[in-house]
Amino acid sequence: NRRIVLASRPQGAPTAANFQLEETAIPVPAAGQVLLRTEYLSLDPYMRGRMSDGPSYAEPVALGEVMVGGTVSRVEQSMHPDFKVGDRVQGYAGWQDYALSDGTALVKLAPDMQQPSQALGVLGMPGFTAYMGLLDIGQPKAGETLVVAAASGAVGSVVGQIGKILGCRVVGIAGGADKCGYVTDELGFDACIDRRDPDFAAQLASACPNGIDVYYENVGGAVFDAVLPLLNTGARVPVCGLIAHYNDTELPAGPDRLGLLTRTLLVKRIRMQGFIIFDDYAHRYPEFFTQMNQWLQDGRIQFREDIIDGLEQAPEGLIGLLQGHNFGKLIVRV
Ligand code: NDP
Repeated sequence: NRRIVLASRPQGAPTAANFQLEETAIPVPAAGQVLLRTEYLSLDPYMRGRMSDGPSYAEPVALGEVMVGGTVSRVEQSMHPDFKVGDRVQGYAGWQDYALSDGTALVKLAPDMQQPSQALGVLGMPGFTAYMGLLDIGQPKAGETLVVAAASGAVGSVVGQIGKILGCRVVGIAGGADKCGYVTDELGFDACIDRRDPDFAAQLASACPNGIDVYYENVGGAVFDAVLPLLNTGARVPVCGLIAHYNDTELPAGPDRLGLLTRTLLVKRIRMQGFIIFDDYAHRYPEFFTQMNQWLQDGRIQFREDIIDGLEQAPEGLIGLLQGHNFGKLIVRV
């Protein structure tokens, strides 16, 4: 049984030295437990937060403990009345080959599910995040301009496609020409701007001739600096993530833009609201699941997975995710 534990807390960007691969005996389930064999491990930006022990919405991973993570697993042994050997489940087994569970927070997947890794992406936490943040906080209306960054990624790709279904003009922001081409050609966004282009801010402005009504915030940093002056009166800004800052060790370089931000919020009556998906919206998961399955069946939502092979690759995968090396929902085939 291989498992990857948190060996030390990162200062700035995580490195391979922050993780340690260990071999342990395969655990044995007690009465009421199941033994899970991990098939797929989801790698997500929030994991960077769990590696630090600063104040946050969730407890950090303790040093020496297995890294947290959403998983798709097979039940390999069962001492639990609700699960039988061979059942496929979505849960939080973390970065390891095997895990014990008492069934809490395990969701059984349909035995005929064609692509079980979807439960970690478009049909799972990231898809749900896109759906709730956009619909409940963003409140987009047909004809409005919606902008989303990390647009080829797990959350952003779904945000923009739902925006198109609702009749918005959708402008994506992504890192590099390949990602931008995918976002317009495969996902059907109206435009996609490369955040690495030196002319990025001007290109974003010309792609949004009527300003921005909904900015779905995934990144912060220089992208938000370019978005702020384009926000319209009455704009909504769901604050989903700030990945450009997760490795920060100090405040960003000046000038201080806090005054500019609050003045813009006031004068333009903008609503900016953060959310933590399962803390705030767990009760609406069934609604999302039904709707997203329908959209997938109808071919109205496309998605892309970036699958890497082998549990031992997970640290490099997470390190790369925080630098934009992934192209689509990042998943480890364990
Ligand atoms: P993605 O699949 O979008 O992967 C992360 C992407 O972020 C990278 O591919 C890269 O895309 C972009 N990125 C990385 N570094 C930077 C940077 N410095 N500046 C701008 N962009 C950068 O990840 P997810 O879809 O899983 O997550 C997207 C966001 O949603 C994250 O901020 C995450 O924390 C947040 N989130 C929040 C939740 C909540 O409950 N509030 C739940 C789930 C996710 P590119 O190269 O195209 O720029």
